[in-house]
Amino acid sequence: MKTVVVGTGILGASIAFRLARAGADVLAIGGAGGATDCSFGWINASFFLDADHFRLRAEGMEAWRRLGDVPGLDWQGAVSWEHDAGGLEAQAAELQGYGYRVERLGANALRDRVPALSVAPEMALAFPDEGSVEPSQAAAALLSRAEDAGARLMIGARVEAVTERAGRVIGVRTTWGDVAADAVIVAAGCGAPALVEPLGVALPMLTRPGAMMVSRPVPRVTDTILVAPSREIRQDATGRILAPGAVSHQGDAAEALDLPPERMADRAKGAVEALFPGLSLDWQRIAIANRPMPGDGRPVIGRAGPEGLHLAVMHSGVTLAAITGEAVADMVTGGDRFAALVSPYDPLRFAP
Ligand SMILES: Cc1cc2nc3c(=O)[nH]c(=O)nc-3n(C[C@H](O)[C@H](O)[C@H](O)COP(=O)(O)OP(=O)(O)OC[C@H]3O[C@@H](n4cnc5c(N)ncnc54)[C@H](O)[C@@H]3O)c2cc1C
Repeated sequence: MKTVVVGTGILGASIAFRLARAGADVLAIGGAGGATDCSFGWINASFFLDADHFRLRAEGMEAWRRLGDVPGLDWQGAVSWEHDAGGLEAQAAELQGYGYRVERLGANALRDRVPALSVAPEMALAFPDEGSVEPSQAAAALLSRAEDAGARLMIGARVEAVTERAGRVIGVRTTWGDVAADAVIVAAGCGAPALVEPLGVALPMLTRPGAMMVSRPVPRVTDTILVAPSREIRQDATGRILAPGAVSHQGDAAEALDLPPERMADRAKGAVEALFPGLSLDWQRIAIANRPMPGDGRPVIGRAGPEGLHLAVMHSGVTLAAITGEAVADMVTGGDRFAALVSPYDPLRFAP
């Protein structure tokens, strides 16, 4: 069975790898750019929308662990004082109710953990099982693993349409010609609706632009991901600081950037500097992308439209890439091991 994966961001890469490992004949087609190149890269289940979404995210963390040694993957944990003490207590109780590991930190414990911080909130939460990955590096590594497992890549081609005959997918039409396939997996982020809507598959998307400031390397100020009320912060292995353009970026519901990109970068830099006395940052990159967020804010994972068509489109796609790769590969090769986990994300929920 020949499968085409459209999209080589973190989701397409993970799906291509798992499909190739499952023995499928895989061709992944994609171009550069996309949300993966702008991502903060945090892998977590402390942010979630409901019990199903928590479970998917927690399974997502486990699935990343099953991938083993991925370049840029770091289980450094996260520390949050995003809410006031009452809000943090409620968050801790809810997460612990789901069996998630949470530690309560007083001001001294936080100061011990991150001595460079200028603030000492009375309470913070630590999530020791969380981590992060360098998303573009990880996507490249997973594509390389996919190639090693027998997949082929077609880079620089744009898919113009998914082709069908008599209710079955028969391939894709690219800028450079047709490709035959028995199954097509659309993991094209914000490019997905244009590919599936002509086939009668409704895929409404929210407009959720996001930006990521990346600084030049500085001496280490934090070993853990920080979730302050003013900003989320991560320092990568080379010493660069990453901070999103918006506060609480995972739940950011703005339909437009509230500042031009350079000023957003300056604001993010200022928010980081305010937390670390004496720190002076020079930002080297501001990356902007629309988050691929389906109309109800939840992932889309599953079959829709003509036989052989599958979709994988979501925000928090870094957290969810590894589990989605496993689930889609299983689904495409005829399994149902992940049916209960992904059934809340059935694309058909948007059908008119
Ligand atoms: C500022 C920001 C911060 C974020 N932080 C986090 C975070 O901390 N944790 C987390 O889990 N998630 C985070 N996300 C979300 C996460 O980055 C995305 O959900 C994820 O990258 C989506 O990956 P993807 O592969 O589906 O899409 P993309 O990375 O957008 O990739 C889609 C690919 O499809 C290709 N494509 C599109 N149309 C076509 C076509 N017609 N033909 C061929 N190729 C096509 C594109 O070229 C691209 O390569 C963040 C996003 C943003 C913007």
